[in-house]
Amino acid sequence: MKSSRRSFLITSLGVATTVALSRQAFADAPKATEADPTSQALGYKLDATKVDKAKFAKYAPGQDCSNCTFYQGKATDAFAPCPMFGGKQVAGKGWCSAYNKKA
Ligand code: SF4
Repeated sequence: MKSSRRSFLITSLGVATTVALSRQAFADAPKATEADPTSQALGYKLDATKVDKAKFAKYAPGQDCSNCTFYQGKATDAFAPCPMFGGKQVAGKGWCSAYNKKA
């Protein structure tokens, strides 16, 4: 009885530590650069207003990462992870061709 309670405590502690560590990893995720192969493929720009409009006709002014479905942060966050970039952080003011307006 005693040992099962102890193992429960150890397990709980392990879970709490894992959650804390993954949150930390999330916040420390590297930032995607425009030179990254994914950025090149998706036309990612740190500044949405610099998007190549001839190449990405779907871009419309006002679209940026902060109002995209995939942005994993608050709209006010300067950077947040994006699953399209393997969890790397993208700029709230950025844009890429996988943009999907948040409902
Ligand atoms: S998918 Fe959305 S959040 Fe991610 S880089 Fe593209 S526009 Fe930004």
